[in-house]
Amino acid sequence: MRYIDPHIHMVSRTTDDYQRMAQAGCIAVTEPAFWAGFDRSSAQGFYDYFRQLTDYEPRRAAQFGIRHFTWLCINPKEADDPGFAREVVSLIPEFLDHGNVLGIGEIGLNKNTRNELIILEEQIALAEKHNQMVLVHTPHLEDKLKGTRIIMDALSASSIDPEKILIDHVEEHTVSEVLDRGFWAGMTLYPDTKVTPQRAVDIIEMYGSERIWMNSAGDWGCSDPLAVPKARLEMKRRGHSDEIIDRVTLHNPGTFLGQSGRFHVDT
Ligand SMILES: [Zn+2]
Repeated sequence: MRYIDPHIHMVSRTTDDYQRMAQAGCIAVTEPAFWAGFDRSSAQGFYDYFRQLTDYEPRRAAQFGIRHFTWLCINPKEADDPGFAREVVSLIPEFLDHGNVLGIGEIGLNKNTRNELIILEEQIALAEKHNQMVLVHTPHLEDKLKGTRIIMDALSASSIDPEKILIDHVEEHTVSEVLDRGFWAGMTLYPDTKVTPQRAVDIIEMYGSERIWMNSAGDWGCSDPLAVPKARLEMKRRGHSDEIIDRVTLHNPGTFLGQSGRFHVDT
């Protein structure tokens, strides 16, 4: 069994997690830049975070035969102060040449504020200027549907091909619009909040297995770095074929990420 976890915050996880993931068949991860569980006090804090994502973390993953890739940005949760956010965004271009950087992400909205939208648009422009792929964070709960639509409108106003954009954290009420507009969709699996492995499999049964992936989003909070292999087992239990299981947990991520020209992982 081989799989890719295309959205997991390994900087918050232990080395033991890498070992368990490798034992479960993980061959590659991609790690979007995000909130660390606390607000950074300076742009320099992000500079060191970007260094960690592009230099230290790939080497930690490599010890277990796992390829590590990353996405850079200022996350929407810390993007409500435009002056501060712009200072962080100005640091990103110098990191884009690192071999493990796949694009800009996870950008998006948190509380759907005006300032968040301004910084989202500026980071979409950054991706456009540097010809980068985009990974998108969508808001939680009652803000999700509205926020997802605002984000998709901002992306559609750019020249970036929707096939090079993945909208993550989709749920039952947002997945079809995301797919209908030509974007890729990601499901974030959590033990009890957001989408559980069972709900993710329900969604695949309802909306199909094209242009969709699932990830654990393992981070500093309650989360499960083995959520993807658990969802694979749930699919198997329900009688899905190995072909479909591999499609959503291995080949789809490989196809989407392969567009970056940097994700050279044999799936
Ligand atoms: Zn995330």
